[in-house]
Amino acid sequence: MPWEDPDQAPFIEFRNVTKKFGDFTAVKNLSLKIYKREFFALLGGSGCGKTTLMRMLAGFETPTSGQIFLDGQDLAGIPPFKRPSNMMFQSYALFPHMSVEKNIAFGLKQDKMAAADIEARVAEMLRLTKLEQFAKRKPHQLSGGQRQRVALARSLAKQPKVLLLDEPLGALDRKLREETQFELMAIQEDLKVTFLIVTHDQEEAMTVADRIAVMDKGELVQVATPAEIYESPNSKFVADFIGDVNLIEAKVTEKSDAGTRLTAAHDGFLIDSDQVTEAAVGDTVWFAIRPEKIRVTHGQSGPDAVNRIGGSVWDIAYLGGVSIIHSKTAAENVFRATFANISRIVEDPITWDDQVVFTFDRSAGVILAG
Ligand code: ATP
Repeated sequence: MPWEDPDQAPFIEFRNVTKKFGDFTAVKNLSLKIYKREFFALLGGSGCGKTTLMRMLAGFETPTSGQIFLDGQDLAGIPPFKRPSNMMFQSYALFPHMSVEKNIAFGLKQDKMAAADIEARVAEMLRLTKLEQFAKRKPHQLSGGQRQRVALARSLAKQPKVLLLDEPLGALDRKLREETQFELMAIQEDLKVTFLIVTHDQEEAMTVADRIAVMDKGELVQVATPAEIYESPNSKFVADFIGDVNLIEAKVTEKSDAGTRLTAAHDGFLIDSDQVTEAAVGDTVWFAIRPEKIRVTHGQSGPDAVNRIGGSVWDIAYLGGVSIIHSKTAAENVFRATFANISRIVEDPITWDDQVVFTFDRSAGVILAG
């Protein structure tokens, strides 16, 4: 993977970039490096500044301070149409009166490319996006997914160095969105162009991206691979934002090179973790553990139990491949455990109001600052 080479120069670099709208700071002193051929996702909740960051790269917004580089070039003062990037909008912005092939050819004609070259490039784009049979149709004669592919073909026709995708799949239904995510990945692989996608959908970011930048309130919270972000979130915010998680407030009671002992704040059970925390004995921290890392069986849990918490089943959600059990502890805390529905015959099925215990391994969770 190219970004694992520390000697490689970043392809896109935001250097101490700030963007203010009046008194409001949408992006705060943000620095980020993206490498050539990466599929990179900017992920965050509504209003976190991800679109503003992308628009500054495209040239539709000007940073209040800081610099943006693309392929070694400082982009300051370069208008959008002269930048080696292209942006695909959520609305697709297709010309309704033009056929699919004319929509794709539009930018190339404006650039005064020779007719034979345009024809060849359009044919290549139609093949890439599997639109050959729709070349003569107008946008209103296409499905939403096909229109999305036309927009993609048009944005790629000019062979940009970077393709910017602003919530590109937001208008598609779930199944089509998932299919299109895999198509996007295949196209990126085929063209070897750097893709930068803005999304608020964490599953989408996890599916398509090589690396993800999680943003909150105009700042980067964590930049890492999907697996690192899921397995080793660096903060309570990221643990909570990405995937499902149990967040247990706890106090550090013992520390060693082999791990950390915690006492859960509300239920009093003990946690033995292999994580070595920077927090001091006595500090309050959060212990984050994913529901699928917890085992659930019938049983009780006594005082001084380690990595074991009892409760009664409060809710079970059957989701097909997995079920999620919600259990309430004596202190009325809700814990969630997921189990795979592998067998249709369950010998000792867990059901509503059953007394259960949740247990987990010492390597299963992450200790995060309070
Ligand atoms: P969403 O997913 O809802 O689009 P986002 O993370 O992409 O959210 P941005 O569009 O980057 O968020 O906006 C960040 C903040 O900056 C928001 O609070 C927004 O209201 C504000 N903002 C964006 N553009 C402008 C503008 N032109 N003038 C004033 N405020 C703006």
